[in-house]
Amino acid sequence: MIYLDNAATTRTHSEVVEAMLPYFTSKYGNPSSVYSSGSAGRKAINEARRSVAEVIGAKPEEIYFTSGGSEADNWALKAVAEGYLHKGRHIITTKIEHHAILRTCQYLETQGFEVTYLDVDREGMVDPKQLKEAMRQDTILVSVMAANNEIGTMEPIGEIGRITRERGVLFHTDAVQAFGHVPICVEELGIDLLSASAHKLNGPKGVGMLYIRAGVKTGALIHGGGQEREKRAGTENVPGIVGFGAAARRAVENMERAAGRERELRDYLIRRIEKEIPDCRLNGHREKRLPNNVNFSFPVLEGESLVIMLDMKGICASSGSACASGAEDPSHVLLAIGLKQEEAKGSLRLTLSEENTKEEMDYVADTLKQIVTKLRKISYIS
Ligand SMILES: *Cc1c(COP(=O)(O)O)cnc(C)c1O
Repeated sequence: MIYLDNAATTRTHSEVVEAMLPYFTSKYGNPSSVYSSGSAGRKAINEARRSVAEVIGAKPEEIYFTSGGSEADNWALKAVAEGYLHKGRHIITTKIEHHAILRTCQYLETQGFEVTYLDVDREGMVDPKQLKEAMRQDTILVSVMAANNEIGTMEPIGEIGRITRERGVLFHTDAVQAFGHVPICVEELGIDLLSASAHKLNGPKGVGMLYIRAGVKTGALIHGGGQEREKRAGTENVPGIVGFGAAARRAVENMERAAGRERELRDYLIRRIEKEIPDCRLNGHREKRLPNNVNFSFPVLEGESLVIMLDMKGICASSGSACASGAEDPSHVLLAIGLKQEEAKGSLRLTLSEENTKEEMDYVADTLKQIVTKLRKISYIS
């Protein structure tokens, strides 16, 4: 099997699993308890918090563990909406955000908030000038993702952070795809809140975090015990958090090497597809792009058919975002970058890892070429 769906989720690294195991089997005490099996968990959580904070240059006490990226996105938006009501009810985001952001914005609209959804260009880039124009006296939050999960485009978050700082507006970024894959420093980039998820960087599923800059006023997400400095009650997911910490440490140490390797494979695969398959279009920005993202449209074809036929050849790929697959609707991201319905439906996402090989890329290019040729023959006849 050739796994090319790392934007949907990644393999939990064996080092990470190794680090987690003792917190199931021997050090399983409740971290809030005083005996040593519990305090071992508490210490491990603190260490994981330091490791996760280090990835983005934050302080450990600014990291709040959650059940994943979706929860962190929901929390960020709802917490700022609630905490800054006195200042206004206007939020700015983009048309290409993950559904965890878009659906939360829709929910907030039903609660009396107003949301501006910024356009993006053909490459999927947000225009900072448009952001400036959209800002109002009552704007309380700007939420722009660090990198898009479908087309891989990396947004100009440094510029956005400068603008929000100047205007005294909070800035949240969904960095689920970028965290641990490309360098991010919250201080340099002017980020006030940031979401991340462990399973996108070879950590376990069901654990993530929200970075909340010290001084940002936010209430509790879950009321109850005193966990996560009284902002998110409930006995901690100790093994998950430990796994997140281990994945974060590994990602930092390995970032440059992994990204370099992925870029090489990515560019090789893109070159082969563009050279050998006629009438295809690379989606997303050519340079400002996640190191592991390949996304193409093959007009007239159905992305779903491509994915099914690739699966029969042992290749795991995606026709859009994982959450959207199975659904009939073409991706909102591809429509936002100006693709027509048919083009958006005929798109394929291949997201690599450093573990892939050049031989695999050759097999994928050869197989894809055969499949596209075959499907196009059928669709032209019918
Ligand atoms: C995967 C993903 C999420 C959701 O994260 P979960 O941990 O699966 O809830 C949010 N935003 C982006 C950009 C993602 O890629």
